Order: sequence, then structure tokens, then C-alpha cells
Amino acid sequence: MNPSAPAKALTAERRDELLESIKETGRALGRTTLYSIEHPSVQGAVAAAHGRIAAYTRKYGDLTLGVLDGQFLVDGIPLKGALSDTFRAAFDRTHLESVSFHPGVELSEIETLYRLFVHKPDTESDYEWAKAFLSERGARRVSVNTTFYRRDGDEAKGPAEAPEEDWTRRLGDLPIETLLFEIVKRAVPDPADRKRVFDLVMAKLKAEIEAKVEEATLGIRREKEIVEGDKARTEAVIAGVAGGEVVVDENGKVLLMNPAAERIVGGPLKEKAGGPLSAGFPEDGMLALAGNLAPAVAGPADAGVTVKGRSEAQESLKAATAVVRNPDGKVVGLLAVPPDAAKLKQVEEMKADFISKVSHELRTPLVAVKQSITLVLDRTAGAISQKQADLLSIARRNIERLTRLVNDVLDLSKAEAGAMRVSLRETGLPEVVRDVVTSLGPWAENRRVSLAGEVPEDFPKVFADPDRLVQILTNLAGNAIKFTPAGGRVTISTVPPPAAGAGNRPSVKVLVSDTGPGIPKEELPRIFDKFHQVGVKEPADVKGTGLGLTIARQLVELHKGRIGVESVPGQGTTFHFTLLAATPELLSQGIETPAVPRGGRIRGWILRSLARPFGGKSAD
Ligand code: ADP
Repeated sequence: MNPSAPAKALTAERRDELLESIKETGRALGRTTLYSIEHPSVQGAVAAAHGRIAAYTRKYGDLTLGVLDGQFLVDGIPLKGALSDTFRAAFDRTHLESVSFHPGVELSEIETLYRLFVHKPDTESDYEWAKAFLSERGARRVSVNTTFYRRDGDEAKGPAEAPEEDWTRRLGDLPIETLLFEIVKRAVPDPADRKRVFDLVMAKLKAEIEAKVEEATLGIRREKEIVEGDKARTEAVIAGVAGGEVVVDENGKVLLMNPAAERIVGGPLKEKAGGPLSAGFPEDGMLALAGNLAPAVAGPADAGVTVKGRSEAQESLKAATAVVRNPDGKVVGLLAVPPDAAKLKQVEEMKADFISKVSHELRTPLVAVKQSITLVLDRTAGAISQKQADLLSIARRNIERLTRLVNDVLDLSKAEAGAMRVSLRETGLPEVVRDVVTSLGPWAENRRVSLAGEVPEDFPKVFADPDRLVQILTNLAGNAIKFTPAGGRVTISTVPPPAAGAGNRPSVKVLVSDTGPGIPKEELPRIFDKFHQVGVKEPADVKGTGLGLTIARQLVELHKGRIGVESVPGQGTTFHFTLLAATPELLSQGIETPAVPRGGRIRGWILRSLARPFGGKSAD
């Protein structure tokens, strides 16, 4: 005990302050048994205890806290109900009777005192050791006194051995550490062993608790990682799609907005800030906002969503947007087609419809005009001058070209709309080729190009639409004749099917070769594209449309065949395509529906082309 401390009257106020000081000091002591002094939680508790003690000693002078016979003594006066178990355990462990704090005590000194408690001297010279411990560390404003039973050298008289008939009854109320200490104290009589056993038990307990906590929180940590992963992914998806960003408070009022969002909501941040996001919302917009924006602290989050916007706008935006989920139902992406694209598609369909109608309507008057011109040119309607005849011939060639273009465009738009039908049946190639050679013969002869069909009469039958086959061959052979200079040769030949393998659809090959100028290698990949024409000189009498090969390819594909080209510039070109051989199986079962139409870009091309039907290399 601090002999210099006079007994002071214990006012209610002082008692309260005392109790607070004791509580804080006890709390810090408790922490030192679980963590090192350097641990932030211990440091905080020690600082709090120092704050209390420093204030108390400043006001009331020295403060001596001690334990005697299981009672808490403050300045030698028993203080009922103030005995903290942690405190008592610490005093018991260190065999100290009391500690004193003096005015002006510093934090470092109190910390030193706690270190002393942690070191727990257990030799005979406890008191001397403790005194030395404090003075060596310059802690002058704290002091210690030995426990009375140590001082007396008679443990039997100490409180540890004092008869305590109901000590087990108290156990239930004790903190675990004190409880263990009480048990160890009674189980191990030797103080040196007792300390070791207590340390061992505490270390084990700490390790076990840590392992249990680790085990218990593992699942929670995994869940947290999954939730965080989902959240990050969803946020990344949204951030990856959305250009604008708006920050709202719990009531949906705008706090921040980036320029992209300003454009979307149609106003600068300074006008919108502080107001509800839905105020003055653009007519065609849609706003979807979580129903309850306050963070979900406890319980499940409110999943309700408020959707604002005209119903048509909502419909069109909804129709253009889709959420992408994984098999677990988690959102992993967003699929959106700008509503404009849907409109564009509609317009394209209208255009295509328009084109096929217009083309159709054009054909009839074209035929009439051509017939009338022919009648005038044949002088059936009376005499005309040579000059008039020349002009009418030019007119007729242009009418013919326009007719070809209209026919090609019609064919192509039909094919692309999937509306072109082929009537596949058993067809003899020799007949078809003869037909083509007969009809193109006079023109070839006129151009002094020899045209020959080299198909053996017994060539296997093919599964084809004879009219469409004539069209394919006319396009290919027509090109060959057109581009081959006088003296050249155009040949239509065939390759029979390979020996039929079981379950295989055997096919034959048809070739159209010429000895013309050939096609540059770099042009070959694009040769079948719509309106693609290579800069090869074309005879003035048969201007092409650039659609012939495109149509030929469409038709070959409708026959389930493939078309290709090989060309050696300066030597000639060979176009080849395959056709299915007419096997009994095919003839009885037929083949699936026509090939899927190719893209829709033709419509744009056609429109542009129609806008300048006589432009470029057009009128003669
Ligand atoms: P066009 O109506 O202009 O002939 P096509 O689609 O039939 O259109 O042919 C596209 C282009 O391919 C032609 O303009 C021509 O440049 C080239 N071509 C086609 N066949 C031959 C050929 N046998 N020899 C050389 N060039 C050819």
C-alpha cells in the first residue's frame, strides 16, 4: 500500500470516477492476456486507462489499487462491488498486493506497468524484481507492493488457500481467463508450475479458438468472395455497355453525372443535381431504378424496381435488350440491338418489297417498248431514214440492257428473300448444253469465237432444274464469249461422278472454259460479288450488269452445288460448278428446302444501281 496516501472521503462523484478508472484499467489488463502490448486493441485500452488514471490523480492525488482477501481496496479502503475478476487474476498471478499511480503519470509508465503484469514474476524476489523492472524503465510515477502472503512468507494464509466454501459457485460468472486461473490455482499448488500450466492452457485455448473461428468463417469468406465476384462482373458488364454514369442518393436524387449521362437525360448536371432523376425525363427514354435505394444493412435487399417512361418507349427498348445469364441464373452479360437497327430492318424489307414490285412493273412496259421499236426498225410501220434507224438501234440495245438488269435484280432479290424456287428433277446435261450452244451459237459466231459443247450423250443424268441450268450456263458461257477475243474458243464440258460411295451424294462437274484474257488473281475472290466487274474490256453490244455471276452462284447453291473459278491471265478462264447426280434415292426423296438467302446488302446496291442505271459504262 502507498503509505503516503491519506484516507479520503469518498464522494459519489469520486466513486464514479474511481469505478471508471478501475474499469478501464481492468479492460486493458484483460486485453494484455490475449494480445501483445503492441497490438492496436491493447494500445487503445491502455491509452484509455491512462486517460482515466491521469485525470483521477490530477484531481485527487495518488491512487492505490489493491486486493486483499478477495476484496478490492482503493487507497486502503474496501470498495464494494468494484472488484474486477481480471484485476484480481492479474494480482494473483503476479503476487502483487497493490499498485499505486502518482499525479502526472505518463502513458509510457502505465504501459510499463502492464508489461510488468505480462511478465508475471514468480520467484521469491517478486517485489524486488517488480521494483527493479519499473525503475529500470524509468517508470517513477507508478509503484508496486508485494502481496501480503508473499510478504509474510506464508502462503497458507493467503487468499488462495483461504477457505472459500463457495468458490465453485462464483465460477459461472467469471470471464474465461479468470475462471481458468482459478481452476489452475487450485489444481497446481506450486506457483512456478502454476504459471507454466496457466500459460500452456491459455496458449492452447487461444489456438483452439482461432482455429474454430477460422473454420466457422471459411464458408462465409467463400460466400463473400462469390458475391463480390458476381457484383464485380455485373458492374463490369454494365460499365462496359453504358457510356453515361449517374450517381443518386438514397431518394433517387441526382448527385453526380458525367457528360454522356447529361446528353442522355437532356440537361446539364447543374440543372438536374439535387432533383429526382425522373424529373423532366426524355419522352423516349426509359428509367429503371431499384425501389429502395438505401443500403440493405440487415435482411434481404428490396428487389423491387421502378420503371418509368412511355409504354411504347419501354416496349421498344425492352424488345431491343436482353439479359445474358449463366446456367445458375447469374447475370453475365447484356445483349442489345439499337432500336434504330430494328427500324432499319423494317425499312430494308420495305425497300426490297418495293424493288421487286417496281422491277416487275418495269418489265411489262419494257417489253412493249422493245417490240414497238423492233416493229419500227423492221419498217413494219413504214419507212424510216438510216439516221432514225441508227438511233432506234441504240435505243433498243439500251432497252435490252435495262431488261437484263431488271431481270437480274428480280432474280437476285427473290433469291435473297428465299423466294427463288428451283424445281429439281432428273435432267440430261447433253440436252441442256445443246440448248445453250444453239442459242448462244449465232452470237459467238458473230464474234468469231468458237463455241462447243463436249458432253457425251450417255453422260449420267443430274438432279437439276433444266431452265435454271440453262440460265447458269448462259451466264457463264455468255461471259466467256463476251470477254474472249476473236479467234478464241469457248468449251462447255463435264466430269462424271466418282465411283459412288455408300451414303455419299455423288456429284458431277460442269466446266465452262475460254481462251480469253483471264482474270487477275487478286480479283478472283470478289468475282462473285454483286455488281463486281473487273476492268476487262467489254464489247459495246453486250454491256453487263455485274450480277450474272452472283445469280449463277445463287442458282448453283440452290442446286446444292458449289461454284468456283480458275484463271490464268493471258491464257483463259475456267468456271466450274457441281451438280448432284440423279441417284434413285435422290429422285425418290428429293432434297431439303432451298439454300438460305445470302445477306441483305444487295438491296442497298440495287437501289444505288437503279439510281444510275445508265451511269458509268452504260449508254452506248
Ligand atoms: P457482267 O454482267 O458484268 O458480266 P458478271 O457477274 O457476269 O457480270 O461478271 C463479273 C465480272 O467478272 C465481269 O464484269 C468480268 O470483269 C469478269 N468475268 C466474268 N467472266 C469472265 C471471263 N470468262 N473472262 C474474263 N473475265 C470474266
